[in-house]
Amino acid sequence: MRVRNKPWAKENIEAAPQYVVSEPEIWRGRWEERFGNTQPLHIEVGSGKGQFIYGMAKAHPEINYIAIEIQQSVLIDILDKQLAEPLANLQILHVDGGSVTDYFSPHEISQIYLNFSDPWPKSRHAKRRLTYHTFLKGYQEILPPEGELHFKTDNRGLFEYSLASFSQYGMILKQVWLDLHASDFEGNIMTEYEEKFSAKGQPIYRVEAYFPA
Ligand code: SAM
Repeated sequence: MRVRNKPWAKENIEAAPQYVVSEPEIWRGRWEERFGNTQPLHIEVGSGKGQFIYGMAKAHPEINYIAIEIQQSVLIDILDKQLAEPLANLQILHVDGGSVTDYFSPHEISQIYLNFSDPWPKSRHAKRRLTYHTFLKGYQEILPPEGELHFKTDNRGLFEYSLASFSQYGMILKQVWLDLHASDFEGNIMTEYEEKFSAKGQPIYRVEAYFPA
């Protein structure tokens, strides 16, 4: 995703270490301390402007959430939401989702969300897709056995690729939706991209998959 450079983003992020964790590696294995409770911890990789993760955190105060976003200029929008109405169960990391094992210990995460991940359609860029097997390896390490990965996208090519990638990795596909908004799925929180693409009439694909014990 291309975004406008926001020169003030770095400064604003550094001014809010209570929400954007400045040294996430020191909390590896200790996120319960950071949140001050032992609630389950869910992460989203590639949160963008954070509408989904902020909405989830608001709807589920009994779960802790961490937004992971690699671009400062986008992450700043998640921070703005937190500053406007702070949620105690939401933290933000400015890191690469390919390095999750640096920030979370084995089994520390109960569930992972990927939403409208960049499709990287050229095969030579496949290894950048957040559902490429090297990313799956990291997710598997931090989830418990049978820990789930939930993925939504409008991109049929990425969806098909990801289903194949999950299966080849040995993951179990628990449920698949080919048109989420036409289904009876309850409690869906829309992402910014989801709003944009579904308004154009595009179906939203969704899968819940897990790594077997
Ligand atoms: N999830 C949001 C949504 O559905 O509206 C944003 C979707 S946007 C297409 C993909 C986001 O993933 C971008 O903000 C991008 O910076 C982020 N991203 C891409 N690769 C990443 C990585 N390796 N680690 C963390 N974030 C990443």
